[in-house]
Amino acid sequence: MNRRPRIGDWQDYPELERLQNARLDRTLAAAARSPFYRKRADGVPSSRAELNDYPLTDKQDLRDAYPFGLLAVDRADLATYHESSGSSGTPTASYYTDEDWLDLVDRYARKHIAMEPSDTFLVRTPYALMITGHLAQAAARSRGATVVPADNRSLATPYAKVVRLLHDLDVTLTWSLPTDALLWAASAALAGLRPDRDFPALRALFVGGEPLSPARRTRLAEIWAAPIVEEYGATETGSLAGECPQGRLHLWADRAIFEVHDPRTGRTAAAGRGQLVVTPLYREAMPLLRYLIEDEVDVSYQPCLCGWVLPVVRVLGRYRLGAELTQLDVEERVFRLSAEYGVMFWRARTEGARLRIQIEVAESHQAPAVRDLRDALGRLHGAAVEVDPVPPGALVPAALLTAMPDVMKPRGLFSDGEDWAKALQYY
Ligand SMILES: [Zn+2]
Repeated sequence: MNRRPRIGDWQDYPELERLQNARLDRTLAAAARSPFYRKRADGVPSSRAELNDYPLTDKQDLRDAYPFGLLAVDRADLATYHESSGSSGTPTASYYTDEDWLDLVDRYARKHIAMEPSDTFLVRTPYALMITGHLAQAAARSRGATVVPADNRSLATPYAKVVRLLHDLDVTLTWSLPTDALLWAASAALAGLRPDRDFPALRALFVGGEPLSPARRTRLAEIWAAPIVEEYGATETGSLAGECPQGRLHLWADRAIFEVHDPRTGRTAAAGRGQLVVTPLYREAMPLLRYLIEDEVDVSYQPCLCGWVLPVVRVLGRYRLGAELTQLDVEERVFRLSAEYGVMFWRARTEGARLRIQIEVAESHQAPAVRDLRDALGRLHGAAVEVDPVPPGALVPAALLTAMPDVMKPRGLFSDGEDWAKALQYY
């Protein structure tokens, strides 16, 4: 079966597994053309049963194979090349053909709030090397929407300019990190605008790229008076899960085989808590067999009211302290604080047995915010918790939210009285 499946094409999990297996031969044949898998001592698996026992492919394997060790097609057939973000020295490369892109676009466009020709869609994730900006752009174009390529980590689009675009263009949909949408809100407030009132065209915020706790999600929706639609994926794979109308993330198990790896036992299972493992099924340029994504997840096959026959995933992230405390736990407590306190930005670390957390909060709300958060985190963490209030601007400087830097082309010639300190400023 070559046609890419659509939700509703299968009625139950055995049928979904048959869909996966019908596609697996092509995936394994592609892997057999990849120098990385050909070199492996285990060879390339030839069946689902053999795949189940096959060693995982991890991020280090991808680094070792940089740049084209996993390439399973001619270089001439590639459409795009990407590298994922990360602080380590050796990059992680990924590449896709035009055919691969059809599947990528399909998966991203599976939103329960659909992109339409009448939409103005502001893409606020990076375009540089990563896939996320290009993916959102291609998916929106495929649905006829107007794309505003705002990018991220770019001098050309500081926060104040994003707010200006959202407002003046009547942007209807956005794509960003959840944190970025909080920064827009702070920037809008400094510009004298109210996010819940002055952006009436906004009908949804698509977010992804970092874990999002239920309380932060609710707060974001309140701040912007628009629904939040979550998405989960990686540059090496594209979208892996999207949200259903019930607000749950479902894995795109018609396009990939998913497993959960327990790093303590080394075992994998179809469901449960651990690290996500993915074998994409619609991929020719860079086949991946049992690719270990280091995010901690919880996968379940409990039925969902939406009726989709797709496993539900909760993404728990990578940052945790000891066995108990995750970043998501702390975030949840911060965003359960009364909205009236206006707390959006925080950071925390352990100091010995103590947990110390800083929150940005206006002086008028300091006392109740500190008290409520100390109580909530104390119940969660057990050990001593210290909450330090810091004034607005201490964690996220106001200058970052209001700056409008000049972005000039290189210039060498200036007239009398002009500021020639701007000469050659093309960076
Ligand atoms: Zn659902």
